[in-house]
Amino acid sequence: MQVHVWAEDRPLPEAEAAMRRLYPNGIQGQIASFLRAEGGFEVTAATMQDPGQGLSPAVMDGVEVLVFWSHKHWRELDPQRVDELQNRVLDGMGLVLLHSAHASLLFARLMGTRTQCLRWREADERQRVWITAPAHPIAQGLKGEYFEIPADETYGEYFEIPQPETQVFLTQAAGGEVLRSGCCWTRGRGRIFYFSAGHETYPVYHQPEVQRVICNAVRWAGQGAPLPAWPGWARQAPPLAGPG
Ligand code: ZN
Repeated sequence: MQVHVWAEDRPLPEAEAAMRRLYPNGIQGQIASFLRAEGGFEVTAATMQDPGQGLSPAVMDGVEVLVFWSHKHWRELDPQRVDELQNRVLDGMGLVLLHSAHASLLFARLMGTRTQCLRWREADERQRVWITAPAHPIAQGLKGEYFEIPADETYGEYFEIPQPETQVFLTQAAGGEVLRSGCCWTRGRGRIFYFSAGHETYPVYHQPEVQRVICNAVRWAGQGAPLPAWPGWARQAPPLAGPG
């Protein structure tokens, strides 16, 4: 399965030192590394600073699943790239959206919502990730009814999303908020999974449970293209047979 891992990789000045210490190869490098270790994936990785913003057709052709981590600079992503990615999802490419990707135009476009659509604060809070769909492929290999992330940015409801087709995780923050944090949708022939964990100043993507979720999600999202290409909108279907 061909997987492309993309991250903005332009932290805000106050986050830069912590992120570079935790993720010397970038968040995209860390995720690519545990996907490669998992096996079964051909993995490439890129950032917004790469040619074509790391998402050009030359890079994306043949990609079956895109893992997408964005934050503050989503407005700088060429709108044409967003159009192209939306079309790729509708045509069957899987999409795994992580953490602040909820605020991106790509997410809003695919959800039919606005950008920047949840409650948040940075308070070093423990997060309990409840498994709300234990039979779902994305929850396989996790032990117990929940796992905990020792500290992450807190996200909370109301989260302006269409009700997920399957809600796999619900996260409870130490401060009391809850969030529909692991959500599945289909759009066209593509499968989409959003997972909220992973602020750049915490070692969230080093945690085995989180790596398990992302590996499972990539495998699940990559199975969304069983149909051949569209026959074409303009082609007229044969008329119905006559009476009798
Ligand atoms: Zn964040």
